[in-house]
Amino acid sequence: MKPFAHYNARSVEEALRLLAEYGGKAKLNAGGTDLLGVLKDRILPDYPEAIVNIKTIPGLKNIAEDEEGVSIGALTTLAEITASPLVAGTVPLLKEAAKTVASPQIRNMGTVGGNLCQDVRCWYYRYPHEIGGRIMCFRKGGKGCPAAAGENQYHAVMGAKKCHAVCPSDLAVALAALGASVTVAGPGSTTRTVAVEDFYTPLGNVLGPAEMVTGVRFPKPSPAARQTFLKFTLRKPIDFAVVSVAAAVTLERGRCTDARLVLGAVAPAPVRALSAEEFLRGKELTAETAAQAAELALAGARPLAKNAYKVEVVKALVKRALLGYLG
Ligand SMILES: Cc1cc2nc3c(=O)[nH]c(=O)nc-3n(C[C@H](O)[C@H](O)[C@H](O)COP(=O)(O)OP(=O)(O)OC[C@H]3O[C@@H](n4cnc5c(N)ncnc54)[C@H](O)[C@@H]3O)c2cc1C
Repeated sequence: MKPFAHYNARSVEEALRLLAEYGGKAKLNAGGTDLLGVLKDRILPDYPEAIVNIKTIPGLKNIAEDEEGVSIGALTTLAEITASPLVAGTVPLLKEAAKTVASPQIRNMGTVGGNLCQDVRCWYYRYPHEIGGRIMCFRKGGKGCPAAAGENQYHAVMGAKKCHAVCPSDLAVALAALGASVTVAGPGSTTRTVAVEDFYTPLGNVLGPAEMVTGVRFPKPSPAARQTFLKFTLRKPIDFAVVSVAAAVTLERGRCTDARLVLGAVAPAPVRALSAEEFLRGKELTAETAAQAAELALAGARPLAKNAYKVEVVKALVKRALLGYLG
């Protein structure tokens, strides 16, 4: 690793001031489970001049409910989410998603903010500098996406503009199905909220150079809503999603009255399957309507040469999630 200045921020304001002072040349460090790998492999052309440790900021590590919803602080770890009785009782799909992330060690260190902001896992983007030189793709300010005509087995099947890497965050998929918003703090003590599915941009996320995530918030789902998170991986333990599906569906006497359906690892952001949700409302849930919903969910897919299989796997997960509610 190259030398860098290191700061322990004592408040959100101090972290934002440091980000502003370094004008885009400082990086926030939460659990460090993603950032340190990115730095050690020197995958980025611009090495940060400063690292701002945000674990020293009090007040960002909490899971709390009020009458309208649930708030989770950015420094809450994935392990704390899986252990929370409030999460288990209110939003079991979030617990399921957090449980599938990496290993116990990484879940002990990795935070909600870091999971949402982690860098993509594209093997061209992540190619270590030491073994042949980094690959300057669109996401690094270079030209072209080597995956577009290359080894694109795990890349986007929809929604990619320029970069075909998929959003690697499992929490983002679960949170999008819960209608969650990301709370973003910016210069001058300003805060704004962004829907999780709008948080990602074609080459990163919506955060400005002097902004940070302070938490997420979502409305409490109806107690009648049934929730599911399904993830397909190549290996059982410690693996990123090839594809995933998060669903929150309310049924009354077998008829669907409300549905939120989100697809993961198919695009640079979690994808809400709006036409499938619309189709399901008012319908009786059967093998046939579940299959039709799955077709609608993937209607916009435009797979690359080597990843058409992902479309079929997501359809299978959508059907499995929906039909699971009939059992
Ligand atoms: C072996 C391995 C397997 C993994 N498997 C999975 C998986 O299956 N599913 C999955 O979802 N993830 C997976 N991950 C990723 C892991 O979940 C993330 O590394 C972790 O959640 C990141 O959290 P962190 O706090 O350690 O982030 P850090 O490494 O500290 O930060 C990651 C990035 O986010 C930025 N950042 C951190 N906090 C904030 C904030 N509050 N506001 C703005 N920017 C911020 C940092 O500057 C950095 O760019 C895996 C990682 C590893 C190493």
